[in-house]
Amino acid sequence: MTSARQGEQPVIYMDNNATTRVAPEVLAAMLPYFSDLYGNPSSMHKFGGQVGRQVAAARGQVAELIGAQPEELIFTSCGTESDSTAILAALQANPEKRHIVTTRVEHPAVKNLCEHLDRLTGHKHRVTQLPVDREGMLDLEQYEAALADDTAVVSVMWANNETGVIFPVEEMARIAKSRGILFHTDAVQAVGKIPINLAESAIDFLSISGHKLHAPKGIGVLYVRKGAPFAPLIIGGHQEKGRRGGTENVAAIIGLGQACELAAGRMEEENSRVRALRDKLEQGLLAQIPSSLLNGHPQKRLPNTTNISFEYVEGEAILLHLDQYGICASSGSACTSGSLEPSHVMRAMGVPFTAAHGSVRLSLSVYNTEAEVDFVVEKLPGIIAKLREMSPFWQSSHQGAVGGASCPCSCS
Ligand SMILES: *Cc1c(COP(=O)(O)O)cnc(C)c1O
Repeated sequence: MTSARQGEQPVIYMDNNATTRVAPEVLAAMLPYFSDLYGNPSSMHKFGGQVGRQVAAARGQVAELIGAQPEELIFTSCGTESDSTAILAALQANPEKRHIVTTRVEHPAVKNLCEHLDRLTGHKHRVTQLPVDREGMLDLEQYEAALADDTAVVSVMWANNETGVIFPVEEMARIAKSRGILFHTDAVQAVGKIPINLAESAIDFLSISGHKLHAPKGIGVLYVRKGAPFAPLIIGGHQEKGRRGGTENVAAIIGLGQACELAAGRMEEENSRVRALRDKLEQGLLAQIPSSLLNGHPQKRLPNTTNISFEYVEGEAILLHLDQYGICASSGSACTSGSLEPSHVMRAMGVPFTAAHGSVRLSLSVYNTEAEVDFVVEKLPGIIAKLREMSPFWQSSHQGAVGGASCPCSCS
């Protein structure tokens, strides 16, 4: 298998929560649908019909991975579309109910939609964003107390993209159901990484995105429990039983089916070999770099994700230095957006200012090797030491002259 390069350098890709490589098996399964098999799955002729049968087979592969029935799945264009469709469908089903319960640490796909519904539509909807504790966990008593008579829908992510923290969504869905409230979960980071069995859950809606599990970008799935109320977001043709208009993205659907089958077969490896690599990486960095701390619950976490804060340095500067070695990672500080604010997830967790700015997320996949982990553990301590030498905040905090409350972020 060829590996990605930038210039002469091999890429060490540890940003799998942002997107993943398309698995070679997935690409191979997709290719015929860009050449010979170009029929429309809705056509009456055999040429299109054979494509329709393969789309049905792919739906079965996705259903198998999450314990759903194929009819409960709707193909969409992405995770974001699935999230919007689910939440808006739930609200439409209960026009007299105006309350939404979600969390402070949702992906923007859910967070910004809920804030939009709250603020920009003239406060037609009321949104409760549940807080998290220092380890990124929710308090279930606080959750129960937040549910009101006019709560239409709860939307809580299965696993957090920045920290990997896993929420007890199955239990939360049972509680919602007992109160007659619909439950949606953004499971984009969870699907393919941890076992999911919807046959035994009270979850009404669940979102999936292809490009987070080695399928291509631009394909998503929304699971809608049989019997749950539904209203389409995109109205058009009869595709997806009238639940999502638009000719199917056939090649991507075939690819997603293949990716789900692969993921089912690799779940064991993800939770043993990938987890061990993540732990080696995390322990190596925490042991070698002073004033570093783990963000997120140490156990209740995805097997592939670690998020570590290096105090008194700026995440973006760390990323630029890692990039020089071809190492791809992400940061929880949002200087790219022009704001000096750390991410909403770090803020919700109450990560101290000096640490929130220096948070780095490393997210692995089955394609990572031990040699790559060793390389990162070898290079990162030197990067942090160098940045700290240049940091007035590190200097002052280590000469007892703390006090300057201005931002340590070096970007403007
Ligand atoms: C990536 C991601 C999304 C968005 O998925 P797209 O397919 O990129 O729209 C939504 N939620 C979570 C948790 C994600 O990580």
